[in-house]
Amino acid sequence: MSNKKLLLLPGDGIGPEVMAQVKRVIDWMGKKRGIKFDVTEDLVGGAAYDKHGVPLTDATMQKAMDSDAVILGAVGGTKWDNLPFEVKPERGLLRLRKDMDLFANLRPAMVFDALVESSTLKPEVVQGLDIMIVRELTGGVYFGQPKGIETLPDGQRRGFDNQTYTTSEIVRIGRVAFELARKRGKKLCSVEKANVMMSGVLWREEMTKLGPQYPDVELSHMFADNCSMQLVRNPKQFDVIVTDNLFGDILSDTASMLTGSLGMLPSASLGAPDANGKMKAMYEPVHGSAPDIAGKDIANPMATILSFSMCLRYSFDMAAEADLIEQAAKNVLAGGLRTADIMSPGKAKVSTGVMGEALVRELDKIG
Ligand code: NAD
Repeated sequence: MSNKKLLLLPGDGIGPEVMAQVKRVIDWMGKKRGIKFDVTEDLVGGAAYDKHGVPLTDATMQKAMDSDAVILGAVGGTKWDNLPFEVKPERGLLRLRKDMDLFANLRPAMVFDALVESSTLKPEVVQGLDIMIVRELTGGVYFGQPKGIETLPDGQRRGFDNQTYTTSEIVRIGRVAFELARKRGKKLCSVEKANVMMSGVLWREEMTKLGPQYPDVELSHMFADNCSMQLVRNPKQFDVIVTDNLFGDILSDTASMLTGSLGMLPSASLGAPDANGKMKAMYEPVHGSAPDIAGKDIANPMATILSFSMCLRYSFDMAAEADLIEQAAKNVLAGGLRTADIMSPGKAKVSTGVMGEALVRELDKIG
């Protein structure tokens, strides 16, 4: 079998620091399990802008298209905040998602037993939490045209964005969510604002139509504002949540805090399988480039390492290796090691590098 082609895009801020820990895990997989990856590394975001004047070159985009999976660190930072909109670091990320047609963003929110105390919510509310938010990623208000800022005849300025969804966009994300629910707790909650938005009315109609094709999955509907409230009131009522781009952005950040830290949350962005069953995919932590802690070797690398484990599970069908990484992460945390973001009394505070090293040592033990 040919080697698995991985493109690593560490990006900006803490991106390169957390990606360095993923490289340790990739090396471990090669040395100890004989799983060889063809690894290429390139620039994205502010780092790409500084070298090439754009946040993503056409050549890097092509490498992403040719790879089996992309692992991305994070982009952005104060240094690039005042760049024109078209060359802001985030445009590089949005181009990757759009050109690879990564329409399904999977964001699991899981509470590790060892970290129950890190959540700002009561332990009984979050203990054992395991939910999956499926966010539509290439449509909706972030991409809808027209968008812009215009000057009105009376001299006022008017900013506008446009929320649009087509049936095919809704149906394909719906299918991903139903399939995932089928493999998990068999409950799917579809979230929109059908009470005030026509795109929400269509979303609810299409999800309802899909329901009978998945009779083993219990489908429910919820308004997005209620969902944000329910996520902090009783998050364990959910199994899989499917929602649009904007609501998914907000609700998954809320869900992230149930787990205690953004530094623990991985994500996968998947495209549709082609005729050969090959699916484009990008894996990245939910967090950003964290400029406030960049360069200090204190960032939590778990979100990016767990993103790599999602990559093994969803792009390479390597569930055993993915489980192994997740188990190693659980064991390291149960052993009392903590990066600063998840530190609690009586635990040992460690750096990004030491956390990565500890995880690889744990893989040695259990792998
Ligand atoms: P952020 O996620 O970078 O940071 C929010 C807070 O969480 C900060 O206090 C940070 O120190 C902390 N944090 C984040 N990741 C952490 C980790 N792994 N370990 C420990 N602590 C962690 O969000 P922000 O501050 O709103 O944005 C900073 C920059 O990142 C901005 O330029 C923004 O546009 C960009 N951003 C990029 C992405 C991405 O690349 N996918 C996502 C969100 C924000």
